[in-house]
Amino acid sequence: MLTMTINGASVESPPGLEVVNPATGQVEAHAPACTPAQLDDAFAAAAAAGRGWRSDVDARRKAMLRLAEAITAAGDALAADLMLETGKPAPIAASEVPVCATWLQVYADMEIPRAVLQDDASTLIEVAHRPLGVVAAITPWNFPLGLAMWKIAPALLAGNTIVLKPSPFTPLATLRLGQIMGEVLPPGVVNVVTGGDDVGRALAAHPTPRKITFTGSVAGGKSVAATAGADLKRVTLELGGNDAVILMGDADVAASVPKILGTAFFNTGQACALPKRIYVPDALYDEAVEAFAAVAAAIEVGPPGSATTQMGPLSTRPQYERVTALAAEAIAGGARIAAGGGPIDGPGFFFQPTILADVADAARIVEEEQFGPVLPILRYSDIDDAVDRANSTMFGLCGSVWGTDIDAVAERLECGTTFVNTHAALLPTVPFGGSKWSGVGVENGVDGLLAFTQPQVVHTSRA
Ligand code: NAD
Repeated sequence: MLTMTINGASVESPPGLEVVNPATGQVEAHAPACTPAQLDDAFAAAAAAGRGWRSDVDARRKAMLRLAEAITAAGDALAADLMLETGKPAPIAASEVPVCATWLQVYADMEIPRAVLQDDASTLIEVAHRPLGVVAAITPWNFPLGLAMWKIAPALLAGNTIVLKPSPFTPLATLRLGQIMGEVLPPGVVNVVTGGDDVGRALAAHPTPRKITFTGSVAGGKSVAATAGADLKRVTLELGGNDAVILMGDADVAASVPKILGTAFFNTGQACALPKRIYVPDALYDEAVEAFAAVAAAIEVGPPGSATTQMGPLSTRPQYERVTALAAEAIAGGARIAAGGGPIDGPGFFFQPTILADVADAARIVEEEQFGPVLPILRYSDIDDAVDRANSTMFGLCGSVWGTDIDAVAERLECGTTFVNTHAALLPTVPFGGSKWSGVGVENGVDGLLAFTQPQVVHTSRA
């Protein structure tokens, strides 16, 4: 069994977590369930490590580059863990490894801003950025490594130390990452513990961390915000999305639809920032539904290890049951199945790539985040009405507009990132975050780095 990493050492715990392979539906591995005493040890190690780690930014940059190399060298083992625990097809699993390396390299090269507000004969006033101290990082199951590194890389450069907990559904790759980090970084700089949601709650409530960085569901984020608020801990919350896509009247359907659907069903539709509902003008509606259905029907669904697989299973049984229920409910409510329609018989959590037409706005598959390969196509006659409907949910992660005469529609979408003729293009140098229930704060870019710092004014009198 893979072990937790606390203070640079491999730490065992009772194998409290069962890891189900979503391609078979069977328990195929186990992982430790962190005890309260072990969590205390992890936070104590992080606090002790912080004293040295924060003192030398050049040493931090070098260590981050060494870590990028070590992760790359362990790429095959990390990707195999991901395939087992998430069901991702091999290329998608493998792609999380270079994401980790890239994020470390980009942040290792980033300057920590230091602004000079006044510099004259009488006074020097600067704004420096200090580490916050110990950070608790909590991650979901859809991109266990990539989303962890979105937190680890900026937190490390800023001089913080970390206790990281992955989702109980996907502990394996993160435990292996913890072992690699334990070998490359000074002891205690990053500690990895595993456990259920109760361990997540214990991280958020622990008195040591000064910041909680959380990626997960809206419900989890609200819980973390309430817990953190009671202790005035800082938070960054990256939560669910229900991204609207608007095709304009002059959109090129044949060119746009494969791009939109390829993004919408990336990772079996299980990513926060993907197209999740599509608004199409009357004049293009039938052509667009047909095009979406044709692309969806051609997608090869299969086990993660097969070379021909384009889409793997849903990653967890609860997610499989939820997507099944949302699709069935929409169909029972009058939606027309243009492609797919439901789960695939047999073992594992496989689901047909599904396109639903004529879906009611009030259907849960429109109002909520489906997080799966089922896409509702909605009709509009008036662009202002389409924008209002796109903005009508409590989500606000991303959105996109497709066409040439976009008439500033993109900037009327209420969301953290609005795309034009693309979607979900996420980069380490570009801030990413949600409005409304999709989140608080941002990750990535300089803004994401500053979120792991405390501004400190240094005011020097020269008189
Ligand atoms: P989840 O909230 O159930 O769990 C996420 C993590 O939080 C897990 O490690 C879990 O153990 C822990 N956790 C659960 N309840 C907690 C609590 N009350 N206090 C502290 N920790 C708690 O989410 P999930 O199902 O693993 O992830 C899917 C969700 O994540 C989707 O809604 C998706 O949109 C969202 N997501 C958002 C982003 C983003 O950047 N905005 C990226 C990926 C996923």
